[in-house]
Amino acid sequence: MPSLSAHARGLPRSGIREIMDLAWAMDGPVIGLHVGEPSFATPAHVIEGARRAMAEGQTRYVSNAGIPELRTALAGKVARVNGLDVEPSQVIVTNGGMEALFVSLASLLAEGDEVLLPDPGWPGFDNAVRVLRGSAVNYALEPERGFLPDVAELERLVTPRTRALLVNFPSNPLGAMLPAGLAQELVRFADAHDLWLISDECYDQITFGAEHVSPARFDTEGRVLSCFSFSKTYAMTGMRVGYVVAPPAAAGPLATMQEPVIACVNAPAQHAALAALEGPQDIVEEMRDAYRSRRDAAAAQLDAAGFSYLFPEGAFYLWIDVSPVCGGDVKAWALELLRAHGVALAPGTAFGPRGEGWARVSLATATDDLLEGLDRIARSGVPA
Ligand code: PLP
Repeated sequence: MPSLSAHARGLPRSGIREIMDLAWAMDGPVIGLHVGEPSFATPAHVIEGARRAMAEGQTRYVSNAGIPELRTALAGKVARVNGLDVEPSQVIVTNGGMEALFVSLASLLAEGDEVLLPDPGWPGFDNAVRVLRGSAVNYALEPERGFLPDVAELERLVTPRTRALLVNFPSNPLGAMLPAGLAQELVRFADAHDLWLISDECYDQITFGAEHVSPARFDTEGRVLSCFSFSKTYAMTGMRVGYVVAPPAAAGPLATMQEPVIACVNAPAQHAALAALEGPQDIVEEMRDAYRSRRDAAAAQLDAAGFSYLFPEGAFYLWIDVSPVCGGDVKAWALELLRAHGVALAPGTAFGPRGEGWARVSLATATDDLLEGLDRIARSGVPA
């Protein structure tokens, strides 16, 4: 076989996927606290939207940017939920939130360009920048600052090669939310250095009280690309529908960028997404309430066991300080926890070097499994 590019060979595997593969390969049952996969079934009317579309023959290529009725409905959604006043032509339907991020990055990066990424942050960011031959520069999200970006640090990290700042709130893995004042400051920082601001808002509708703030609300210069997803809000991860909301001049090139990658998003899945938007929204609240109850039950259990953690205000993850038990190597500890106690969780280092000593537990897991998994962690005393 001819060799693959060094670039392709050097792409690291996500640390979450590594645990996932091992969990699948285990003989006995495993309590899976590692993946962000909602435990709820995809709502029936969403499935019906796709089924009807297929039955009606909506199985052909559609526009690169998405079907017009979905783009119109999404312009309504971002007005209602995110406070953004945009034309349907500014909405590009993508193959999940991941491809929303990918086409955003692909549209602005040249080889060697730098992107400021959160550490800890979702591993997909770093991998997308690598695939595009950009250069990831980590900024710190630290407990002392409430796990929020420090503009003074960003000022120190910015160079003439910096093209974009990427932010993700509500945050995976942290569950932190972005205060409005800081959102405004970050947009001003991007203005001052003529950067793009890519805002990953895949969990925008999974919040537990605090209001989610879209940075694009403060964008007066057309430099914010807001990336959203249907995956988590409507428990439809496998349908693969997301979207970017872009400034008017960027929307066309972003849609064209999809042509060589996916051409267009699967048409029946777009009709499923439309059904999700047009159907009852109380299911979104029901799932959110369930995540909130799980958070509270899990927090009580962690308190009783003496663990410190970040109390999440959004998304569906718990970021737990396991430094007292992990012996300085959280990945080795997580592997041992899986092998000896049948509990899979994501080691903090899967999210960047600042994740050492931390672990992420998903609240998307059904309550009984979640509490049993936390109980085993507390009782395991791993390493002994
Ligand atoms: N962004 C973040 C922060 C995520 O956690 C995920 C999925 O876990 C994604 C993007 C991609 O989601 P999807 O492609 O399923 O919409």
